[in-house]
Amino acid sequence: MDSGSGKSYNRRVKVLVVEDEKKIASFVRKGLEERGFVVDVCHRGDEGYELATTRRYDVILLDIMLPGRDGLSILRSLREKKNTVPVILLTARGELSERVEGLNLGADDYLPKPFFLDELAARIHAVLRRASGDELSVLQAGDLSVNLLTREVRRGGAAVELTSREFALLTCLMNAPGRVFTRTQLCEHVWNYHHDPGTNLVDVYVQRVRKKINDDPDQPLIETVRGVGYRFRKL
Ligand code: CA
Repeated sequence: MDSGSGKSYNRRVKVLVVEDEKKIASFVRKGLEERGFVVDVCHRGDEGYELATTRRYDVILLDIMLPGRDGLSILRSLREKKNTVPVILLTARGELSERVEGLNLGADDYLPKPFFLDELAARIHAVLRRASGDELSVLQAGDLSVNLLTREVRRGGAAVELTSREFALLTCLMNAPGRVFTRTQLCEHVWNYHHDPGTNLVDVYVQRVRKKINDDPDQPLIETVRGVGYRFRKL
């Protein structure tokens, strides 16, 4: 893909996960957040419908058997309301007829459980591409571009290889130029730690990312906010 032709993208992909199996829900949340998505999770169908109709999501991952309200009924109501948000059904073994019904009701895809996160991320990327082309997929700052779909990072045309943590760190900062993130917030976002690990983990990773994107120390894209944390420079 030619990331150079990508249009500017200034927000992250928002995913709603409606899944009552908490282990699956938290595994999905963690995996998608690591891949740069913003994730809301709820465990009940009625709450899921409420969120789906009151907030804006780029994609909804919908379990079928749910307390409160089942997934197919949610999907049916969304489509009746002309809500075209892409929906991927998370189906359990033996739910073949529900899968078929779901697709007939307007689901964009389905994924049988159990699944791998990479597979889920690939399906999400595919429905997003179908829904919106590639327009929403590229974060751009000067000659630094980050394609959220292909995870391709380029600086001045040269490819930059980032690990998944480094990628999550960069996209977290880059998604909100000018916003200061504390080390604790970055730890939560990138490592899913809800406590201060008491190390200089974040600083080490920021240094690595700066080096890899060839950040100019005199005018860095990733700025240090002394005593607080880091922010991506607003261009
Ligand atoms: Ca379920």
